[in-house]
Amino acid sequence: MKRILIVEDEPDIQELLGTYLRDAGYETAAAGDGAAVLAAFENAPFDLVLLDVMLPKLDGFEVCRRIRQSSQVPVVMLTALDGEAQQLRGFGLNIDDYVTKPFSMPILLEKLRVILRRAGGGESDSRLRYRDLVVDLDTREAVLAGRPLDLTAREFELLHTFLAAPGRVFTREMLLSWLC
Ligand code: CA
Repeated sequence: MKRILIVEDEPDIQELLGTYLRDAGYETAAAGDGAAVLAAFENAPFDLVLLDVMLPKLDGFEVCRRIRQSSQVPVVMLTALDGEAQQLRGFGLNIDDYVTKPFSMPILLEKLRVILRRAGGGESDSRLRYRDLVVDLDTREAVLAGRPLDLTAREFELLHTFLAAPGRVFTREMLLSWLC
């Protein structure tokens, strides 16, 4: 289960976000100020940080800067400020996205889902890769440097077998017995 750290000092919003995210299948933890974030961060890893900009003591930008000293965890910034300068400042700190309040919860969930999928490698388990080659077991397609390969079923199975066990040596007999 993906773990999301919610950083928000307003209890109502913190609770609302927590409820929605847990309903959507995430595990959540919450922090109300920057110091609590950094402490939470040292205790357990998170898959994503939802970070409000307006926080007491350390603001969200400073919290993000400190997180980035030790981690490339995806950060989504949440704020009432929608000025261009604020957003650019966030992107300068290598945040992954920016959501302004009031926000739509379904859209926020969708953004988080996309960012988490990308952070998790961005592929479903049905794909195997080697350099420019991608073999998708669900669609039974092989793509080399962006171009689909025209393979027979047998060729596809051979390619899949090799990609699934890189570096392994197969004898002709082994392959024939598996593929026939
Ligand atoms: Ca706040």
